[in-house]
Amino acid sequence: MKGFRIPKSHPRYHSLIIRERIVDGFRKGMVVPEGLIAHGRGEAFDYLLGEKTHDFALMSIKATIAYVLLAEKPIISVNGNLAALAGKEIVMLSDILDIPIEVNLFYRTEERIKIIEEYLKNLGAKKVFGSNCKKTHISGLESPRGIVCVDGIYSADFVLLGIEDGDRTEALRRVGKRVAVIDLNPFSRTAQMADITIVDEATRALKRAVEIAMELKNLDENKLREIAENYDNRKVLSGAFEAILNRLNDARKRGLIISFSRELGL
Ligand code: ATP
Repeated sequence: MKGFRIPKSHPRYHSLIIRERIVDGFRKGMVVPEGLIAHGRGEAFDYLLGEKTHDFALMSIKATIAYVLLAEKPIISVNGNLAALAGKEIVMLSDILDIPIEVNLFYRTEERIKIIEEYLKNLGAKKVFGSNCKKTHISGLESPRGIVCVDGIYSADFVLLGIEDGDRTEALRRVGKRVAVIDLNPFSRTAQMADITIVDEATRALKRAVEIAMELKNLDENKLREIAENYDNRKVLSGAFEAILNRLNDARKRGLIISFSRELGL
């Protein structure tokens, strides 16, 4: 709420700060009301995952950076939620890896594209595809959701995106692009469809991505290939499901799950 300061001692301080960031993005016109709901879905999975960056997420962040460095034309696709939550980290990543950003929206309006583009530029972004690019359409995504920039996503070979619905990932894969996604829900179509799934909260994941990009940036090509070739997305998704199961087993051990299964018809 405006004017209210979240006390640092609050047990859910970080989660509440992130919530404030998304609400602020909504007030600025970057985030749509549906984006607030999508954030809530993410929060629920973050709670189940223990609100931390797991090793399996670090593996996928590392693979993403390796793939970006090996790709011919990588790009970061940014929507309102991602810009509001981690605009600063996205701009840093784009700078370190020397890759462009494209503002690409599910609920697309030219006005919102411009607001997000300006926001990123004010944070220091050098190359942002948005309102003033030559546009075309990604097949399989009905208008205006499928609009992309010809020199941006359309001609990219690797796309990093986050907090998206499954259709976009599916459409990008169908036209031959490699796709890395940041998505807290390992069940989602996006998570299941991507080449690389970073199951982590976007703000945390992108902070780690910046650090890892600095480490890997000067690695020789063979080492990068080794990281990319050894990556297994099924292993990562399985790790995410197991982390959720472990949390539930922990709840059972603490006596929070009592066997009422028959009574409840389970
Ligand atoms: P799909 O179509 O892939 O099944 P969906 O219909 O759940 O996904 P949306 O409602 O658009 O897609 O939600 C976006 C996705 O982003 C959800 O899977 C949600 O868990 C995830 N998400 C939301 N906030 C965050 C966040 N801060 N960090 C990472 N993931 C997030």
